[in-house]
This record gives sequence, C-alpha cells and structure tokens, in this order.
Amino acid sequence: MAKLSLKHIYKVYPNGVKAVNDFCMEIADKEFIVFVGPSGCGKSTMLRMIAGLEDISAGELSIDDLVVNDVEPKDRDIAMVFQNYALYPHMTVYENIAFGLRARKMPNDEIHERVLHASEILGIKEYLTRKPKEMSGGQRQRVSLGRAIVRNPKVMLLDEPLSNLDAKLRTQMRAEILKLHAQLKTTFIYVTHDQVEAMTMGTRIVVMKNGFVQQIDTPKNLYLYPGNKFVAGFIGTPQMNFFEGTMKKNGDKVDIVFKYSDASISVPYEQLIKVRPGYLDGNKEVFIGVRAEDMTLEPSVVVESPYKIKVVVSHVEELGDESLVYGDINMGGDGYVESSTRVIIKTTFNGEFVPGNVYEAAVNVSKLHFFDKETEETIVPRLPEINDVECTVKEGKLNFSGISVQLPPALMCGDGQGKMLLPSNAISFDGDIKTNVVDCEKISDKYLVSFETGGRRMFAVTDTEVPRGEAHISIDFKRITLCVGETIIEPMEELVRLEGTFDKVKEKVVENKSGTRKTVKKVNFYLNINGVKFPSPEYISQKIFATLSPRSVFSSRFYYDFTPYTVRIADSGIEGTVEGVSDYGKEKFLRVRVTDKTVNVFTEGPVTGKVFIMPDFDKAGIVEADRGIKLI
Ligand code: ADP
Repeated sequence: MAKLSLKHIYKVYPNGVKAVNDFCMEIADKEFIVFVGPSGCGKSTMLRMIAGLEDISAGELSIDDLVVNDVEPKDRDIAMVFQNYALYPHMTVYENIAFGLRARKMPNDEIHERVLHASEILGIKEYLTRKPKEMSGGQRQRVSLGRAIVRNPKVMLLDEPLSNLDAKLRTQMRAEILKLHAQLKTTFIYVTHDQVEAMTMGTRIVVMKNGFVQQIDTPKNLYLYPGNKFVAGFIGTPQMNFFEGTMKKNGDKVDIVFKYSDASISVPYEQLIKVRPGYLDGNKEVFIGVRAEDMTLEPSVVVESPYKIKVVVSHVEELGDESLVYGDINMGGDGYVESSTRVIIKTTFNGEFVPGNVYEAAVNVSKLHFFDKETEETIVPRLPEINDVECTVKEGKLNFSGISVQLPPALMCGDGQGKMLLPSNAISFDGDIKTNVVDCEKISDKYLVSFETGGRRMFAVTDTEVPRGEAHISIDFKRITLCVGETIIEPMEELVRLEGTFDKVKEKVVENKSGTRKTVKKVNFYLNINGVKFPSPEYISQKIFATLSPRSVFSSRFYYDFTPYTVRIADSGIEGTVEGVSDYGKEKFLRVRVTDKTVNVFTEGPVTGKVFIMPDFDKAGIVEADRGIKLI
C-alpha cells in the first residue's frame, strides 16, 4: 500500500541526454499506472529512478509522504520485475523466489510460507524444484513475479515484463497481472511501449515522448480527448486518420475544408463551440483527426448523413468480424501510403468494396479532433481557456451578449466596437451580472460551467460546483484582453520573475554557551536578488544542493518566481520605483520598475516614488535559469 508523489523530476545523464523533463504526478494508493511511449522516450529511466536504480538529477520523489531521493533501493520497499526475468540459472524456482527473503535474514518457516503462497497465486507450485532453464518464458516471468510478490512490497514496478513472450501468452499474462494487482491491493507501475497493453491494463496512463510527459489520463479519456496529435495517433488501432484543412465560421455553421482534396463538410457551430478562438477564420491551417471507427461506409447511414466525404478505395483488410477499408479522399490519391489524404475506415458492413471505385463515407462529426498545424496541440481543450466575445464600449461601459458593465480605470478606452477575450478562469459566481447556468461538468479536479447570456453560450472554469439555473457572475478584469477600435488592452502580467543567485557567506557569530561568549565562524546561505541578500530557508538550500553539482551551485543563475500577491511593499528589500497604478476596480496593483523590468505588486493603498519589495520565499517558484530546471 503506497501513494507516490513525483514533483518536477528530471534526469540528465552524464553525457548530457535529458531523458526525463519536469515529470510531475501524484499516484494514489492501489492505482495501476502505465508509462507508455516509443522506445527512448524516458519511461524506463523514470521507473528506474522510482526504484532507486538511477539517481534523480532534480526534483522530489516521495513514497507515503517520505522523500526517498537518497534512500537506498533496498530500503524503499519496492519490488521490480524486468523484461529478461533476471533469474539465477543455478538455483531452483523455490530458491529464486526465496532469494531476496534469505538476503534479509527472514526465518525459514516464514520464507517457506511466503514462497508457497506466491507460487499458489501464480500457478507454479508444481515447478518449485525446477531450474529456470526447464521452464517456458511465461513460467519464468511468473517466477520473477513471485520473487517480487513474496516481499509484500508497497509498490510493484514492472519494466516491459511481457515483451519476451509470444502474442497469445502476452494476452494471458496481461490478465494474470491484472488479477495479481486486484489480489495484492498495492500500487503498480508498469512500463510498456505497447499502447494496447497500456489501454487494457492502466487505471491511468502516462504517455511520454522525447522525455516529456504528453498526457496523463484514464484510457477512456486518452482515447476520447487526446491533448495533442502525438497522443491521438499513438492511442487506438488503426492509427487515427489525420487530414490537413481549414475551418471557417459561416453563420451558425462551420465549413471544414480538407486540403489536397475536394472534400468539405459543414458542421453546426454548436458542435465546435469549444474550439480555441482564431481557428475559425478559414485561413489558419489545422490537422483534422478522424478515427477509423468514426467514419462509416454503411449505405443506410451514409444516405441519412449530412456529413459525407468521397473516398476512392484502394484495398481492404479483412479482419473477420470487421474490415479495414483503405482509400483516399483525393480521387487521384493512393490509399497504400500514409498521406494527408489517405483514409482508413473500420467497418462491420458486409458489402463489397471494389478497388478503384468511389464510395461515400459518412463522418461522425461529434467525434472529430482538431490540432494546431505547428504545435500539434489540440485546439478543442476539454476545459476551454477563452471566450471570444464581440463587444462595444460606450461612455466607459462594456457591452457584450446583453450584459453591460462599468469598465475599471485600467481598461478605460474610447467608444467603439471590437472584441473581448474573456478567459474561463476570469469568471466567478460571486457577482451581480445575471446569467443562466445550463450545465456544470466535472473534469479532473475542476468544473466546466456553461452559461448563457444574450442567447450566447460561454464557459467558466471553477473549483466548486455551480448549480444550474439563474446565477450571478463577476469578471476579473485584469485577465481580459480588450480590442476596441485601435486600442488593444492586454491582460495584466501575473508572473513576477526576479533573477538572482544563491550565495554562500562566511560569517562570524557570537554564541553564548553555558555563560561563555564565543565568536565562531559559520557558513550561511542567501538568495541574492539585485545584490539584496535574503536568508535562504533550509528547505530551499537543500533543494538547490540536491539538484546542482557543488561546483555550479554558486555560479548558477536562478529565476525566483512570485505573483503580485506574494511580493509586497515593505520598509526594506529590493529597491524599485513606482511607475503607476493599475486600477481594476476591486483590486489595485502598483507597476514597479526593478532594474530593467516592470513587475506588478498588489496594493491596498496609494504608494509613489522609491519603494522596497519584500518577496515571500515560502511561496516562490525557483527555476535554474540555464537549463530551465524547475526546483520548486
Ligand atoms: P525508454 O525506456 O522509453 O525506451 P529510456 O528511459 O531507456 O527510454 O531512455 C531515455 C533516453 O535516455 C534515451 O535517449 C536513451 O538513449 C538515454 N539513456 C538511457 N540510459 C542512459 C545512460 N545510462 N546513459 C546515457 N543515456 C541514457
């Protein structure tokens, strides 16, 4: 039984390879977590860091609230199962299973009991006197599982345990490992490059690529809501079809135009309401993702569907109960090679598809995926970040979707019309603007609240549930972007990033020991920002020393990150000059010039001229600047 906390974990190998970057995850007790990704993505490195077989370059690993970065592997209460079984060939199965317990000097009768129990669970009781070479691959892997089980570990780590087995045995062992997980009631972390294994086994899956976590989610959510094109393509067989194209809003419809083909479909805007602003102008190129199972060639469905695309069929793969029809949405295209127009359609329809013939396929538009052409990130986030709203400003009042509110001084601008980008996290349900909540959906640890005003649907993201029906909102004006006429007012910068160093100072201190005063030399550590030294809290010094080599600690540069609320004006601290005040109505912020940059500081009252800023280091984020490693 164990929960694990992985905070900003990095692995930089001595040869400079950054195998794992900023891995953050909380793993609950009894979860079955799968790390999946192509070869070389860093999944084994991450697992080996959890096991203690590999040093953690930066970050913090805790098991049951105890930081274990420096705890020896044998003291972590973790058992690991490897792909190559790692059995001792000269020992019997019994002795292989008992080996770890003997090394721990466990009494013989207890060892015996545990070995028998494990071999029973794994169905290898009758092989206990055999040597590993007298057993099949599947049986050997059971022995190595047995060796892990007998230790009653808090966490079971499995590194591609089924890769050496044939397909049939792999399926069987998959089920056995799941049963084992249910029986042992402990936390499992399982590494595989096989997405089917990941999808069928994990309660949650971590998809990795090039050392970076791409997405952490349940199998179902990864399938339904892939966060980027890589995850979309990695999860599911056959791979999702990716086309290139554009989207153009046209009244209450959106025209989706497929590039390199004559295909286009017109979808109700309602279906695409969560699309990030800026992608519906008909110019910005996107990837359009459609799974093979979200298209159909069944004539009775196609005839009814308003969303049809022509496909020239190249060949068909019969899978028995279903077929994969390969084709192209470009009538001159070739369905044999992957391209921006090649399409694979999964079908259970029993008709004939003649190569070279053109058929109509219907698209399930509620299952479409869209990704940015450059970043390949989804442009339809589950939690939409922005509401793109048309607005007017008249005599200091902002009018949009039937709402009229007074603009605060910081956003004051001339009359005109334009638009506002209203972030979903800038809306809270504690104000006096009347709206109507039509839906509230829990997504991870947040709530997506859909509300309507002036006939328009908008989104807010909140930490607590909001009941349906009449509701009153307020707007956090410092987060909005307002474009009216020629004026563009950007959101307030909420990051206060100060640059500095970590210093060592030898100091003489007077100690009073049993009545005698003595001067002793002591080394103290300071966080230095613009020459102002702040005593470094013990835990911050420890984190910095744990992450950086002793040689580079005092020559490294750091970003000390705060928010406008975690720095304050004080009698001493970092010197700055007040340039002005941003008045957002409910809240006011000073714009303070500190050397070459301006930062925003929350203020209760008016302040001018020279000031000192006192940061609250207990609430700081700390980043090693050169390699961009997050320490806290
Ligand atoms: P995966 O398990 O996903 O296949 P690994 O965690 O084994 O990937 O490797 C991640 C990256 O780190 C790869 O680029 C690999 O070449 C590199 N790597 C792994 N082990 C070492 C090592 N001991 N020294 C240097 N580079 C390594």
